[in-house]
Amino acid sequence: MRNQEIAKILRNIALLLEMKGESRFRVVAYEEAARRIETWPEPVEEVWSKGKLKEIPGIGESIATKIGEYLSTGRMNYLEELTRDIPIEVVELTEVPGVGPKIAKLLYDELGIRTVDDLEKAIAERKLRHLPRLGEKSEEKIAKGIEMFKKRSGRMLLGQALPIVREMTRTIREKTGIDKVSPAGSVRRMKETIGDIDILVASSSPDQVMDVFVALPQVKEVLARGDTKTSIVTHEGIQVDLRVVEEVSFGAALQYFTGSKAHNIKLREIALKKGFKVNEYGIFRIDTGEKVGGEREEEIYETLGMEWIPPELREDQGEIEKALEKRLPVLVEMSDIRGDLHVHSSWSDGMVSIEEMAEAALQRGYEYLAVCDHTQSLAVASGLTPEEIQEREKEITRWNRKARGLYLLNGVEANILSDGSIDFPDTELAILELVVAGLHSGLNQKEEKILKRLELAMKNKYVQIISHPTGRLINKRSAYEVHCDALFTIARETGTFLEINAQPERLDLKDVDARKAKEQYGILLSIATDAHDPNSLDYIEYGVAQARRAWLTREDIINTRTLEELRELLQRKR
Ligand SMILES: [Zn+2]
Ligand SMILES: [Zn+2]
Repeated sequence: MRNQEIAKILRNIALLLEMKGESRFRVVAYEEAARRIETWPEPVEEVWSKGKLKEIPGIGESIATKIGEYLSTGRMNYLEELTRDIPIEVVELTEVPGVGPKIAKLLYDELGIRTVDDLEKAIAERKLRHLPRLGEKSEEKIAKGIEMFKKRSGRMLLGQALPIVREMTRTIREKTGIDKVSPAGSVRRMKETIGDIDILVASSSPDQVMDVFVALPQVKEVLARGDTKTSIVTHEGIQVDLRVVEEVSFGAALQYFTGSKAHNIKLREIALKKGFKVNEYGIFRIDTGEKVGGEREEEIYETLGMEWIPPELREDQGEIEKALEKRLPVLVEMSDIRGDLHVHSSWSDGMVSIEEMAEAALQRGYEYLAVCDHTQSLAVASGLTPEEIQEREKEITRWNRKARGLYLLNGVEANILSDGSIDFPDTELAILELVVAGLHSGLNQKEEKILKRLELAMKNKYVQIISHPTGRLINKRSAYEVHCDALFTIARETGTFLEINAQPERLDLKDVDARKAKEQYGILLSIATDAHDPNSLDYIEYGVAQARRAWLTREDIINTRTLEELRELLQRKR
């Protein structure tokens, strides 16, 4: 699947157009096309070969032709033309938080800055502060941005890695007939960001497996091919290492390569104390050298007198102790989720109608779906007025009358204004079944102010859930200046639920905070996708993974409840 590769090119074009000061309309057209291709379920190269690119919404004649040109020749004339005046490296500068396309262009024009290294040097020499439209403050902000950029370099979002791994493992299984094929490493632990991807295969004919692996359509370059390990780079620039092990060692190898390092160190210490040695080949009795297990991963843990530990917990954060006591929590699972509590429709900035979102939710077996369009103050997202909400309610009621097994909750994602008030009158909030409220502006305010806004919002008895409570965007924007302890204290006092936003770049609350919310404050959480299109309902999986990494059980999550129980919970504050 080359969707991400194509999306990246379209996004680069959008950035180049923006740098050139082209019309907003053209820029948005390319951004939109990129977003569509990225979330399209079929491989774009297949859609193209069937001549159906234009059937993807947002892809017109001209963009379709350019994609076709690229897929057939590996080049795109238009992109080459655009990069004649502005080198493509300059586009990559925009990956530094705080550097938008306009600033990147300015840096290139005025100081000849092309790379992050150039930029770092210019900051050290205090050159940025003298540029037009910039100043000391922007210079500081960009310096911070570079720090963030460096930290994340080479790490991609789980939401980018997982679809690639799944596609690869599926094809390997199909082409080799082997079913012991598994991701390992941080992907298997469902970490929010991933470095390299690890895949493990059980086979006694590694050569055949390697042949299949290097021939996968995702492979751009083979870095090294060996008997037991082969490394490749995908078109997206991601390194994937595949290891082939004997079937009798598969479980041990899976345990070993899943990590984390800290977890494995602790595990081996315990093994030693109990007279065992654990390595990637198996678990062995130290006195006799006898191998007592290794084919199945469970054997390692069982031999040591532990419960099997779900990969999401393997961080040496107390899971080994709990496993020894046989008191691991029963983590929430995908099948526990009965509905999604925060999605948008085309009434605000969603891509499709309420009905289409409802159909998609029904297909996923949900019992309910909360339509939470933006409210009026969020003009960029076509926020709704009270009148429009009333119009929208008719549509929701019409669906619910059909009683097709999925109930739509009439909701909003209201905006918390900079003074902490909600941009919708209480009388109107009272009519809604679910009011999610979140910060969408004034995110750079000082800690005290942000907290005050959240506090006021949570004290509003109609606000039941706070969306994306810390506002972070992974690799792009750090959380607001807000202390989780203060936030959790108020949430507990007011009986407000907090969201685990499942968007791959949000995953907000993050794992350690969500765990704290539960363990120290007893707060209930929702897991919600914030989907703006039907495909994004699948993000729920990342939210569930995040909840699992936070040690949460189904009892801790409000959308594992039946509709009746949920409604009861939502009424509590009112
Ligand atoms: Zn939001
Ligand atoms: Zn939203």
